Amino acid sequence: MALLLDSRLLLRKVKDLRCLTPRRNRVKEKWAVTRTKHPPTGLTLQHFDSTYSVQLGQLWPSVRSALLSERKYGALINNFSYDAVLADLEAQGCRDFLSDTDTETRPCLEQESEVAADEDVSISKKSEIDGQQLSPLHLSPHIKCLVFPRGDLTRFKPARPDMCGLLGYYLMDAASLLPCLALDVQEGHNVLDLCAAPGGKTLALLQTQSIAFLCVNDTSVSRTLRLRKVLNSYVPKPLLTDEKLRITSFDGTKWGDIERNTFDRVLVDVPCTTDRHSLMEDDNNIFSKSRTGERRRLPQLQLELLMAGIEAACPNGEIVYSTCTLSQTQNQSVVEQAIFLAQENHGIHLQVVDLRPLTHMFRKTFHFAPDLHLGEMVIPHLAANFGPIYMCKLRRLT
Ligand code: SAM
Repeated sequence: MALLLDSRLLLRKVKDLRCLTPRRNRVKEKWAVTRTKHPPTGLTLQHFDSTYSVQLGQLWPSVRSALLSERKYGALINNFSYDAVLADLEAQGCRDFLSDTDTETRPCLEQESEVAADEDVSISKKSEIDGQQLSPLHLSPHIKCLVFPRGDLTRFKPARPDMCGLLGYYLMDAASLLPCLALDVQEGHNVLDLCAAPGGKTLALLQTQSIAFLCVNDTSVSRTLRLRKVLNSYVPKPLLTDEKLRITSFDGTKWGDIERNTFDRVLVDVPCTTDRHSLMEDDNNIFSKSRTGERRRLPQLQLELLMAGIEAACPNGEIVYSTCTLSQTQNQSVVEQAIFLAQENHGIHLQVVDLRPLTHMFRKTFHFAPDLHLGEMVIPHLAANFGPIYMCKLRRLT
């Protein structure tokens, strides 16, 4: 009875409120007939349930709940800003996940030389996993990314401009930093970021302060504008000159025709089904019925972009392919085809670089998919809700 009275009271209040709201500001609810029967987010979930339950097996239910929950961010520290935000963020309970690697829990990863005392020299780690000697891993001492501890869902406050107008940190999925670390940029390198907008990874690459020349490209003119805004908000003007940085809006699939055998490092961070966005947002959703053709063409576009990136790299150069989807068709299958086609059509031999030193180092912060036959993947987890991020590193032997 009390419940009935309560709801009547509530109904009357709502009616009163309607009278107070000017007619022009009232939003009419969509009629059931005009409301979309199959919202894109619903279609996405159906699609994921059928494909990822097979691909991920027992892991899918936990990855699914993480994907449907609030994601975690990391704060990439902007070394070019005058504000000392690091101490402030640490006081809030964050930690730099790059310096917080657990040596005890990675007995196979033996430290070769800790030379952090000299600021300009990278930390080099030699590793031996399953009795195999792996290439040393160089981490730039200049990259810092703060995250709240496992299970802590505190949100970062927006960054504030310093006295020169530069922002102190950039908020991004902390797992997005891993492809940049895997790229292993070293002093004097020429680097190409083929699909760069809105610029989170470009910014991370610039933080290393070791790149001689950075070429930043994205086919979308509007997204390239966003990228320019990001760079202007984080990087001092003298570092954005034509001698150090080139920003273009070409179709990346054609890059091999323009500039072949040129770059020491190439990042190919391709457009994909952006799994998290597609599950949460109906707007601009690649699973909407009107974009089915575009979605089905994605693996071919990804392959063409990776092929162009491989051609753009110089012999001995290294290429990192990355996505933010769990899809095997957009990840491992694309890389497999590219390795085959590079040899068949261009006589380019590629070696897959083992990224286990990287995953071992950061396994306290991220959950990695077990036993991937090609590349590595951060999978979302409720206690560490980063990713998905897939990455695979290739080295050109010829
Ligand atoms: N690397 C970016 C970052 O960290 O902020 C995110 C890149 S986003 C995953 C993929 C980008 O690829 C989009 O900005 C899209 O405009 C761009 N793109 C799509 N097709 C392309 C093409 N043919 N050539 C170059 N870029 C392309």
